[in-house]
Amino acid sequence: SRRPIVVGNWKMNKLPSEAAAYIKEVGPMLVQYEGVDTVLAGQDVLLDAMVYAARNTPICIGAENVYWEDRGAYTGETSPAALADLGIKMVIIGHSERRNYFRETDEMVNLKTLAVLRNGLMPIVAIDEAVQLESSNDHAHWIVNQVVESLKGVTEADMANVMLAYEPTAAIGSGQAMSPEIAQKSLWIIRQTVADMFNQAVADNLRILYGGSVKPTNVYDILSQPDIDGVLVGDAALDASTFIELVSLAE
Ligand code: 13P
Repeated sequence: SRRPIVVGNWKMNKLPSEAAAYIKEVGPMLVQYEGVDTVLAGQDVLLDAMVYAARNTPICIGAENVYWEDRGAYTGETSPAALADLGIKMVIIGHSERRNYFRETDEMVNLKTLAVLRNGLMPIVAIDEAVQLESSNDHAHWIVNQVVESLKGVTEADMANVMLAYEPTAAIGSGQAMSPEIAQKSLWIIRQTVADMFNQAVADNLRILYGGSVKPTNVYDILSQPDIDGVLVGDAALDASTFIELVSLAE
């Protein structure tokens, strides 16, 4: 039995002062939902304030991106060792926006995944899906390939710290989530791919999230699917009371 998880991905939306106020509001409320893991991911300039505000709350703080070297002359990049030192627990890697706007490749996603694991952090590796593939036969291939390439060199032991997230591009920010039954098919493919790469026990323990227009009105149906263990939420996580509602519905 995999613990449900709700991850709020703020993307590039909040100021440090707003981040702290949000967490002060949400933190005490979340104590009552012990059955759900909750994560908030923010842009790098918020992380220090977020970690500070989340002390003594059940909220885990995550980063939205990272570089794959621990130190060095890489102006403007963020070190996974620095994130770990700051108290960050998770990192979203290969989000569809990173892949599409910043040209992140599967190879870069793989390097980042390995770097995060090496530093004792948990990667949430996002698998995207381009619009035109959703109804074609290339669809399974596209998903399998991203999973295989992203997880190259990851050990069976490391897999205990890995989560995957399926985020079909068309559903992101559109207000229109993919139908839970169709998303379930993709998540099943992802889990089978992990079973083929490692073994059934690793696949059975792996948490896989769905992301793309998750809201209070659809989160229950989405999480009712057998392979969907959690949700990765953008817009609906920007509002503190909506985030609390999502967590309550996920329990
Ligand atoms: P929305 O929930 O705004 O569709 O964003 C989904 C997403 O990209 C979460 O990472």
